[in-house]
Amino acid sequence: MGGRDTAFPLGFFCFFGDSASKYSSCSQELPVGYKPIPPREFGAPDGTSCKYLDMLGPMVIKILKWLLALGLAFVLLSLAAIWYIGAWNIVFPSSQHDEVAPALPTDLGDNAILVFSKTNSFRHKDGIPGGNAVLKSLAEKNDWGHFATENGAAFNDASLQKFSVVIFNSASGDMLSDAQEAAFQDWLQAGGGWIGIHAAGDSSHKGWTWYVDNLIGADFTAHIMGPQTQAATINAELADHPVMAGLPPSWEQEEEWYSWEESPRVRGFTPLATVDETSYDPFQRIFGSDRDLRMGDHPVVWINCIGQGRSLYSAMGHWASAFDIPEYQQLLENAVVWARGEGPSGCPEKE
Ligand SMILES: [Zn+2]
Repeated sequence: MGGRDTAFPLGFFCFFGDSASKYSSCSQELPVGYKPIPPREFGAPDGTSCKYLDMLGPMVIKILKWLLALGLAFVLLSLAAIWYIGAWNIVFPSSQHDEVAPALPTDLGDNAILVFSKTNSFRHKDGIPGGNAVLKSLAEKNDWGHFATENGAAFNDASLQKFSVVIFNSASGDMLSDAQEAAFQDWLQAGGGWIGIHAAGDSSHKGWTWYVDNLIGADFTAHIMGPQTQAATINAELADHPVMAGLPPSWEQEEEWYSWEESPRVRGFTPLATVDETSYDPFQRIFGSDRDLRMGDHPVVWINCIGQGRSLYSAMGHWASAFDIPEYQQLLENAVVWARGEGPSGCPEKE
């Protein structure tokens, strides 16, 4: 029996027309007890249709198999690419919440920072480890206690009390349960400090209204694309603010510049630094469309004071290399000290 014959069910092509003659044309032996199927009206009794199908059938099946294999390969490669660029939880958003709190170091001291980078939406696979490493080195340099986790169950009253500042390093999506969010809100308003980096201000936090209203204050629209990251000039806006101490009036950073519907200044937030929109190409150029992402007033670092607490958001941190820039390290170091409540208030007078 030929290889081609064995690839198909016995009698498949000989179903049409006079089956017995097809078996002979397919060089197959009739099975024991085989009863010929009567000719059908569209099958020629002389076996013509079988010969035709004999030739066409394997080709069609082969093409279908190739198409199936190519389709499967395409799907698998697409999923691998989605995972590789960190977009898995954008395609498949997660609402997984942790329930068992991590054990904390016993020697955190009074100035500990909690670095949180759980990603239930986009994951910055380069910026998160890069930022976490720099934050750890800043903690060592300044003798701050330090704990980094992606376990949202760390957001409970007892654990949060051990920290003076919580940093969301590109934490994204629906990462905390209602109870964990409530514990964090209470802790912050009672005097905690918060620093949000990069994706902490993207659109994946919309479901947490308090967070957007009090810590971000702006609705994310998009980031530049084509190219995705560009060097641009950052201008210090409030040069005499404690967070800007030691920083030059302007400096350059390469970044995946984010834009928002309007400046957080509109909602009463206080910008500390803005990006000069003439120093880069503020467009999202993708699939032939050019979306204008200019905001006019385009803050990239801003603060808010909530109850007794302080918050600072900084848009920079897409790549690990962003955290290597001395000016940015200085800003983050200052931000931790300020958010903790040390030194001058730096909080705007509120009416
Ligand atoms: Zn990014």
